[in-house]
Amino acid sequence: MIQTVIISGGTSGIGLAAAEILAGEGIRPILLGRNEERGKAAQDKVPGSLYIPCDVTKKEDCERAVKAASSIGNIKGLVLSAGIYTEGLLENTTDEEIQKLFETNVFGAMKLTREAIPFLRSAKGSIVAVASDAAMRGNVQCSLYGATKGALTSFIRSLALEMAVDGIRANVVSPGDIDTPLLDRQLKEYGGNKEEMREWYPLDRIGKAAEVGEVIAFLLSEKASFITGAIVPVDGGLTDW
Ligand code: NDP
Repeated sequence: MIQTVIISGGTSGIGLAAAEILAGEGIRPILLGRNEERGKAAQDKVPGSLYIPCDVTKKEDCERAVKAASSIGNIKGLVLSAGIYTEGLLENTTDEEIQKLFETNVFGAMKLTREAIPFLRSAKGSIVAVASDAAMRGNVQCSLYGATKGALTSFIRSLALEMAVDGIRANVVSPGDIDTPLLDRQLKEYGGNKEEMREWYPLDRIGKAAEVGEVIAFLLSEKASFITGAIVPVDGGLTDW
């Protein structure tokens, strides 16, 4: 039987890196994202993968994507990596921005997970959400983004208890700054550079997408069979200062 893992945000950055690692383990990654061009490029890059257009903020997209994935094979895993980032002072933050960040980073994760649960239950699958160091402590100009990642983290920790009875595990990875298109956009829009960021890290560098992807693949696998409800920092020691 073909084993699949659904990856929201599987068309770029951390989700794409996780897909490449999972494909190397014989799994068929199902890559979800909105931009078709990016999705098709990701599908070409990851052997055995399938791109399915999906905006996680839309219930009908989530339903359709999970249904399509289930027709391909056993849904063994769900990776919640779709996310957007903005920063700024709260007093300059609009209602639309608050809505959009929560719609994507939190409600989108909940909607997609809700659709996937019946299939994960029958396959005794596993869930991994990509949160952030911004959920673990205060981050400058990150009250909104940090709140979405805090909510995502709390969601998964309670979900882990809810799903344990079905043998479904749910965990969180909490990355620090990772070299992805999201970080490039962040630096372009708000300033700063990767050299400067390096100095914040005990390991003297920012992270690579594959370094988060490896932890995601581990948490999804049977090697992590006794880990659920955990938050795993992948941050080069950033939150250990
Ligand atoms: P990228 O921007 O490289 O990738 C984000 C992915 O999410 C893309 O595939 C994008 O595709 C998808 N996406 C965004 N919005 C939606 C949506 N509404 N529906 C479906 N897919 C969507 O970012 P990263 O890989 O860096 O980030 C992945 C996750 O890791 C995010 O949740 C981010 O917050 C988190 N994170 C990243 C850090 C970093 O430094 N890079 C640090 C800490 C956490 P498309 O736009 O085509 O929809």
